[in-house]
Amino acid sequence: MTEWVEAKIKKIKIWTVHLFSIILEAPILPFYAGQFAKLRIKNKKKYINRVYSYVNEPKDKKLEFCIRLIPQGKMTNQLYNLLPGDSILITKQSNGFFTMFEIPKCKNLWMIATGTAIGPFCSILQDESELYKIKKIIILYAVSYVTELIYLPLIQKIKKKYKNRIIIQAIISRERHKKYITGRIPILLKSKKIENKIQYFINPTDTHIMLCGNPTMVKDTQHFLIKYKKLNKHLRRYPGHISIENYW
Ligand code: NAP
Repeated sequence: MTEWVEAKIKKIKIWTVHLFSIILEAPILPFYAGQFAKLRIKNKKKYINRVYSYVNEPKDKKLEFCIRLIPQGKMTNQLYNLLPGDSILITKQSNGFFTMFEIPKCKNLWMIATGTAIGPFCSILQDESELYKIKKIIILYAVSYVTELIYLPLIQKIKKKYKNRIIIQAIISRERHKKYITGRIPILLKSKKIENKIQYFINPTDTHIMLCGNPTMVKDTQHFLIKYKKLNKHLRRYPGHISIENYW
C-alpha cells in the first residue's frame, strides 16, 4: 500500500505565467536521480494525486518539482497557490526506472526533453555517481518560448564542470532565436537539422537515447529512431538504445 508523508512547502518559484517549481521538505526514503514521486492534495474532500519527477539530486534535502500550470486543472492550480509553511502529502517511496542504473555504458548519451520533462535530467546530471560510464552527453531541451528554458542556467552550470563532455542544444518551437534551433524534435531529427548543427550523429553503435516529455513527441521520436536510425527499445532482458519515461 502507498505510504504518504507530510511535505512542508519551503518555496514556490514562479518562472513564467505557466511554469513554476515547488520546493518542499519531507521525510521520504532515499531515491535515485531520475525517479518520481506522487504529490497529493485535498480537493473538495477528495484526494487528488499527480506524478512529478525530482529536479534535485538525491542528496539534496530540498525536494524540487517542476510543474506546468493548467488553468482549468484541479491539481496544478492548488499547487501554484501554496505558500511557504503549507503542507501537502508525498509518497514516502519514490519510483521509476528512468535512472542511470538502467542505462548501459555508451559513447554518446542523448537526453531528450520537452518542457517540464527536463526535470529528471537535471536530477541525473547533478548526481555524478553513474555518469562516468558515458563519454558525451547530448542534451536536447525543447520548449515553446525562450523564456521557458527555465533550467538552462542550471544545465549550463553543470556543463562547466564537465567541460566538453556535455553538449546542450535548446530547441524553440514558437519563436525564432539565433542561438537556438526552431521547430519540433521529431521533424528536426528527420531533417537532420539537429545532427548537422551539433555534429553528433545518432547510430546503433555508440548511441543511447533517453526520451522524456510530451507523449506524442516521445512516440514520434521513438518511431523515427527505430525506423530510420535502426535503434531498438532498451529493455532489461533485451538491451537496446532507447529508454523512455512512462511513469510506471
Ligand atoms: P510540452 O507539452 O512537452 O511542450 C514543450 C515543447 O514540446 C514545445 O516545444 C512543444 O511544441 C513541443 N511539443 C508538443 N507536442 C509535441 C509533439 N507532438 N511533437 C513534438 N514536439 C511537441 O511541455 P509541458 O507542458 O511542460 O509537458 C511536459 C511533458 O513531460 C508532460 O507530458 C509531462 O507529463 C511530462 N513529464 C513531466 C515531468 C515533470 O516532472 N513535470 C517529468 C517527466 C515527464 P509546440 O510549442 O509546437 O506545441
